[in-house]
Amino acid sequence: MDVKNIETELSKFIYELETEDRLVRVGLKEKAETSKIYKKYQNLFTREVLDGLKKQINKTGNAKTREILQRIYFTIAGSFIGLKTAVLDDSIKTYFSQAKVKVRNEELAYFQISPKIAKEPVFDQRELYSDAIDYVITKISPKQLELLNTEVKLIQNLGYGNYLAFYAKAKKMDYANFNKIADKIKKETDNLWQRTIEKVSKEILGRSFKNLRSCHMVYLRSLSMFDNLYPKEKVVSTFLQFANDLGLADLLSRVKIDDKDRPRKNPRAVCYWPKPPQEVHLVIKPIGGEQDFEAMFHEGGHALHGAAVDTKLPYALKTLSRSGALTETYAFILEDLVFNPLWLSTFLNVSANSAQRIQKQAYFVNLMMLRRYLGKFSYEYEMFSQNAIAKGPALYAKNLQNLTGFITKKIYWLSDMDSGFYSADYLRAWIGAAQIKDYLKRKFGQKWFLNPKAGKFLRGLFARGVSDEVEDVVRKLSYRPFDISLLVSGYKKVLS
Ligand SMILES: [Zn+2]
Repeated sequence: MDVKNIETELSKFIYELETEDRLVRVGLKEKAETSKIYKKYQNLFTREVLDGLKKQINKTGNAKTREILQRIYFTIAGSFIGLKTAVLDDSIKTYFSQAKVKVRNEELAYFQISPKIAKEPVFDQRELYSDAIDYVITKISPKQLELLNTEVKLIQNLGYGNYLAFYAKAKKMDYANFNKIADKIKKETDNLWQRTIEKVSKEILGRSFKNLRSCHMVYLRSLSMFDNLYPKEKVVSTFLQFANDLGLADLLSRVKIDDKDRPRKNPRAVCYWPKPPQEVHLVIKPIGGEQDFEAMFHEGGHALHGAAVDTKLPYALKTLSRSGALTETYAFILEDLVFNPLWLSTFLNVSANSAQRIQKQAYFVNLMMLRRYLGKFSYEYEMFSQNAIAKGPALYAKNLQNLTGFITKKIYWLSDMDSGFYSADYLRAWIGAAQIKDYLKRKFGQKWFLNPKAGKFLRGLFARGVSDEVEDVVRKLSYRPFDISLLVSGYKKVLS
């Protein structure tokens, strides 16, 4: 099969796969059947195709051609694994979307529990909700472990030493070095974090910060004390107004927004790019409050990015990204606006005093999430660099507690893991977003989000699709890749 044909077939496959995944995730399809789609395209996902691509990669002297071929190669390699794990993966997804939980006399869908915890003001009740899903997780973990072990075995069959080596090549990342950077972020925020969480714990949870369970992070994250300032019915319209003010309204016609409430709909918002720039889907399940606006603007960042992709780019540079770090950066830049005091007064008519309070609380939450992801990454890094999957549960609980201070149950070690070191993609985005936000303010003013010139600048970045990694983009804007100083100083400025 020649490369052009492979690319065409791959684009059809990805379209079908993204669509299937979305329908199950939003609760419109009961059973996940990606395995059928993998089977339909199984002639693409073979060793012969992979070997053929490898030969071409070694032969070409052109850097751009090599980059494109490598992306196709790693997509096919991922699907070679996917073909053999799809049945298992489907059954896990179907299981979660159908799982039911009983709390006292209330029967709830599994996916309704975390929004319940987020909005539950009674301390003990939150723990009750959290305990109720333990058995759902415990019951499925043998399958999740089987899935991970199969993936590791297939990666080795493909000739890579281990899980870490495969993703280091696929994502062009030096994870040992990145682990040092992550550790530096931890050290530089340790004191600030400790001071802040102790204060917040007393003020909001009503107890000193000792032996508290991680379910309370879900509550803290929801910033529910500010619910009345973030009206649920304005979530979507505020985003549309924002895009309009930035001069990006034309992109919205390509973005299909699903904000319906269905019990089986996964509460975690998401964006799909089945065919950028023509077809992009934004999925959100509002529950009321600040978190909805964060989710809407985060996914809105992904959606505008996808809808602005230059149609003339080769398919691989439109869709087949090395990592998710760049698009997560764009998502973070928009997400952070919803607790920016200037934005709050402009879009939600919030008083200066309330906006300051929101900003402070939201920065605390943001730092909490950053530390949670540092914990997730360090656990995954230690586990996979030592080829020690058996140590996973203990490492997970230890590292999460070390970074957040909250007690985290071992049983979540697999449910809380996004494959392919996606935790590192988020951390890279945290660093890059601090840098690009600094650029936007310097170049277009504190109120850059109202300036169509800033919109034009962002459109230019988005148009390049997934051609670049976030570190390439910040380098072009004269920032140092992986420089954590702006990220750290941002928290210090607001929280000290
Ligand atoms: Zn995202």
